[in-house]
Amino acid sequence: MKMVKETKFYDLLGASPRSTESELKKAYRKLALKCHPDKNPNDPTALEKFKEISYAYEVLSDSKKRKLYDEGGEQALKEGGPGGAPHSAFDIFDMFFGGGGSRHRQPSKGKDVVHQLKVTLEDMYNGTTKRLSLQKNVICEKCDGRGGKEGAVSKCGSCRGTGIQVKIHQIGPGMMQQIQSMCRECDGKGERINAKDRCKNCNGKKVIKQSKILEVHVDKGMNEGQKVVFHGEGDQEPDLEAGDVIIVLVEKEHSVFHRQNEDLLLKMDLSITEALCGFQRVIKTLDSREIVVSTLPGEVIKYGDIKCVIGEGMPIYRDPFQKGRMIVQFKVEFPPNHWTTAQNIKKLERLLPPKDEVIMTDDMEEVGLQDYDPNHRSSAGGRNAYDEDDEDQPRGMQCQSH
Ligand SMILES: [Zn+2]
Ligand SMILES: [Zn+2]
Repeated sequence: MKMVKETKFYDLLGASPRSTESELKKAYRKLALKCHPDKNPNDPTALEKFKEISYAYEVLSDSKKRKLYDEGGEQALKEGGPGGAPHSAFDIFDMFFGGGGSRHRQPSKGKDVVHQLKVTLEDMYNGTTKRLSLQKNVICEKCDGRGGKEGAVSKCGSCRGTGIQVKIHQIGPGMMQQIQSMCRECDGKGERINAKDRCKNCNGKKVIKQSKILEVHVDKGMNEGQKVVFHGEGDQEPDLEAGDVIIVLVEKEHSVFHRQNEDLLLKMDLSITEALCGFQRVIKTLDSREIVVSTLPGEVIKYGDIKCVIGEGMPIYRDPFQKGRMIVQFKVEFPPNHWTTAQNIKKLERLLPPKDEVIMTDDMEEVGLQDYDPNHRSSAGGRNAYDEDDEDQPRGMQCQSH
């Protein structure tokens, strides 16, 4: 049993005087990430707490200072031990997580992982929960992310733990060039583990693959491209805050509706009879209700007309009792040529609004009306004469004088 004068610093880190160096390191890592003032902008005590744990770790991670503290408590440190003035809490955090030290910068946070999640328009209308199975790296529990037995991991001798080898070349008289390259001895990792001490669980990789189920809540009214963020669910790496998993919603195409923000667009084909004499149509909504839209006899729908139903669009995100419009765009289908007898046409003509009759005179010329094909240019057309400059005039003239 180890006897210490006081345990305050151990208590701050949630550790005990028997904790090993790596246990203290792990305890600090967890706490520092949780208590960092950037993460707790609304907690006025966060900075003080953060400073306390950082100082506690600074002392306990230094074997000389730890011995001094264990024997004489905080008082002994104040009376001046080795090391002089304490570091700022942020320096310690940066040293730990690699934010802007004098060595090459390392990111303090792992990469974010982005996944797409396909959802139907029904899902976005009604809201739903999707389960997503992900593979991610987690810190190996057997070795605490060291990759081997405690003490088996040693600094790489070739690069002195930096992972980088610096070579100096003389490129001319008095001129030196410094070339940095990744250390080949340790593959840039900066450390080595003897094969026999390598952790069997992770094979020295420090992390293992694990599958994890994420529950993605798709709220009513969410949009295509909207992000759902799972903080800290990205790959874990030793000494690095895990990145986020970001789920991006992708809307599957719907057979009937097309979404436009909070409105739902719908195309409806009417027959000429429906367009002229009134119609009733049943529409199945995204929550499987059946609504009926209709016009009264006498109301005419023209090709391209647009009508809407208020309150039958998409729910508004975070205000789902409010809904947009259902916008109906009409097409009117006409019957094919010669669909009925000449007699019936005469009858129909009498029912429809009267038409203008033309009285033919000798000055008038009757021409044929052809089906128009936009891809086919008539050789007798006037356009060619204007398009092609070196074309001889007569053609155009011919056409005009014809
Ligand atoms: Zn090395
Ligand atoms: Zn391991």
